[in-house]
Amino acid sequence: MSEKSASEVLKEQLCYNPKNGRLRKDDEVLEKADSFCESYKSFLDNAKTERMAVKTAISLAEQKGFKPFDPHASYKPGDKIYLNNRNKAVIFAIIGNRPLEDGMRITAAHIDSPRLDLKPNPLYEDTELALFKTHYYGGIKKYQWTAIPLALHGVFVKKDGSVIDVSIGEEPDEPCFVVTDLLPHLATEQYKRQLHEGIKGEELNVLVGSHPFRDDKGSELVKLNILSILFEKYGVIEDDFLSAELECVPAFKARDVGLDRSMIGAYGHDDRVCAYPALQAILDTEQPDRTAVTILADKEEVGSEGNTGLFSSFFNYFVNDLAKTQDTDGYRVLSNSECLSADVNAALDPTFPDVMERRNAAMLNRGVVVTKYTGARGKAGTSDASAEFMGKIRALLDNAGIVWQIGELGKVDLGGGGTVAKFLAYHNIDVVDLGVPVLSMHSPFEVVAKFDVYMAYLAIHEFFK
Ligand code: MN
Ligand code: MN
Repeated sequence: MSEKSASEVLKEQLCYNPKNGRLRKDDEVLEKADSFCESYKSFLDNAKTERMAVKTAISLAEQKGFKPFDPHASYKPGDKIYLNNRNKAVIFAIIGNRPLEDGMRITAAHIDSPRLDLKPNPLYEDTELALFKTHYYGGIKKYQWTAIPLALHGVFVKKDGSVIDVSIGEEPDEPCFVVTDLLPHLATEQYKRQLHEGIKGEELNVLVGSHPFRDDKGSELVKLNILSILFEKYGVIEDDFLSAELECVPAFKARDVGLDRSMIGAYGHDDRVCAYPALQAILDTEQPDRTAVTILADKEEVGSEGNTGLFSSFFNYFVNDLAKTQDTDGYRVLSNSECLSADVNAALDPTFPDVMERRNAAMLNRGVVVTKYTGARGKAGTSDASAEFMGKIRALLDNAGIVWQIGELGKVDLGGGGTVAKFLAYHNIDVVDLGVPVLSMHSPFEVVAKFDVYMAYLAIHEFFK
């Protein structure tokens, strides 16, 4: 055994030294992380869109005793409630022992992910093939969405108000869809394009059929045949696309990545990799001190606009209603509340290290990442957590032995981004971003480390306790 030198001892005492979390935890924790991620993978496969995520989350919560929120009911500590906002966002809460006026502990994650939405009038025929026109949703590198199997999920709403669920392409015996790309042999001109328009928005057309309706008269018989299949399967006509929300997402399932199976590759880690831990943390909470709240929000990828996004008042209204059940005001509850904005951050990628500033970049397996601020340029558009709140969260995580790291979204002036944090801060809530580092973020197959996913769960669970 070698003795530690004076400088080694002093370094240990004085220096910030983030390390690989897997070297800091025993086998028992690592095994728990692996088993937690098995459940996470099945959540990913069942919750590829915001609607599917809401449905899956509510069904898990109901098994744990959560009931729809009734603003006219009275609630006691330990009662579990949820508010379903238009099947696209959901709030779960457990009434705490302390009065609401002492503030709530909130975790907010989002359940929408970048994807290809069908246009309102999507179906057309060209060159004896039937295709869907799409409009991409969120920030995607468009060239990544060609030549991969796609599934189709969503709803048709008919004029009588009936809602028809659509889900095609997930099961091995179901057909899938694809955006075609140009063969390299004929791509000389395409190669001259800049990468961001290697595939253009109007080239993201989804191939859906090639058989003509068997009739020797008439035009567009391939399109007609597709309409006939849709009518047979769902009872819908072409006009029903006008009142539909149909989303194309990668058709592959979540899978382990690496010979050591240490990582998960999947579509939509951003932000299900925080939504699932936030959900599971509240499901595993019984009678918290302060009222615990998990928000699973929609529309984050398009700026949180829309009545299912966190820029909307639906959360504020929920808190107002809840406050009334204890004869207090919503603003008092909000002003004393604390929030973890649970969202992903970029992980340092050894192939693209130049976009990161190493001292402040998150790495895979170093645990849950706390991001003090996001934004672009001079921190524009960030809520920037206070030193006081950072101090609180730091103590909470360290005292519970949770492995965590600091993160920043890339080098200064190189780009930027945002989360829902600022929309919570708007309500006078203390908020900081906490989440999981991701490789290939916003691609059809994002990668996270299992260890970090589990640390995110432990962090949020600890926050609720
Ligand atoms: Mn996100
Ligand atoms: Mn995102």
